[in-house]
Amino acid sequence: MELLKNKTVFITGGSRGIGAAIAKTFAAKGASVGFSYRSSHEAAAEVLNDLKQFGQPCASYVCHVSDPDQVQQTMEAFLQQFGRIDILVNNAGIVRDNLICDISLTDWQEVLNTNLSAAHWHIQCALRNMIPNRSGNIINISSVVGVQGNVGQANYAASKAGLIALTKTVAREVGRRNIRCNTIVPGIIDTEMSRSAHLDTEGYVKRNIALRRLGTAEEVADVALFLASDLSRYVTGQEIQVCGGFTY
Ligand code: NDP
Repeated sequence: MELLKNKTVFITGGSRGIGAAIAKTFAAKGASVGFSYRSSHEAAAEVLNDLKQFGQPCASYVCHVSDPDQVQQTMEAFLQQFGRIDILVNNAGIVRDNLICDISLTDWQEVLNTNLSAAHWHIQCALRNMIPNRSGNIINISSVVGVQGNVGQANYAASKAGLIALTKTVAREVGRRNIRCNTIVPGIIDTEMSRSAHLDTEGYVKRNIALRRLGTAEEVADVALFLASDLSRYVTGQEIQVCGGFTY
């Protein structure tokens, strides 16, 4: 079943991890996919190669999502190439962990700009096309840390909590234009980001995750597919946790 047939999708941070899995899952279901990334040129080229096998148009863009001018130029390039935007996935994210008293201004601003402000800028650009079309779908990738907090991650937690509030507000503002906006709240997903945290994985997983394993990027992508498709046509302003039953 081609759940996303004839849909155009833009994903931020599609070169690796969760963004790459969403790109491939959506293309497999019939979508035309464009994605941005920062500097992983080889990884992005591999993802693009994988997308091509599905036969729909696809493209990648180098874009620092923390730069509003680059975001605007990239979204314009995407619209020129694909004609419209049906689905936007705000996925790109970074961590710069430290205890609250030691977080530098640079690390605070970089995390907030990349994880939260970038979503705002992409949403503004996308809505300029979605509102006249009276159709659109926005998915923001948050984190359980944005719901529960986490030691050493005040900047990350604040950015991810902000995404949940942003989602609810966008959903209220543009619902009457037939545009939906939802958040996915992943737990610990096996990607380069979580690997860089150097958790004592075995003990940590047993203590904190009901399903007793990490999630995969594909498991997040499957929930993104549900939210992107008409299967969730009466769902907006919500956050769905994909965390295997995770609590600290
Ligand atoms: P990865 O670190 O594996 O991938 C991050 C992606 O974002 C890459 O494509 C990277 O591009 C891109 N990116 C980062 N910064 C920028 C930037 N300034 N401009 C453009 N692109 C950028 O992360 P994950 O796949 O693990 O995470 C994806 C999202 O899911 C993030 O928002 C993260 O916070 C969230 N999340 C992840 C969890 C996990 O356990 N993995 C848990 C909860 C939430 P490049 O390759 O060029 O660097």
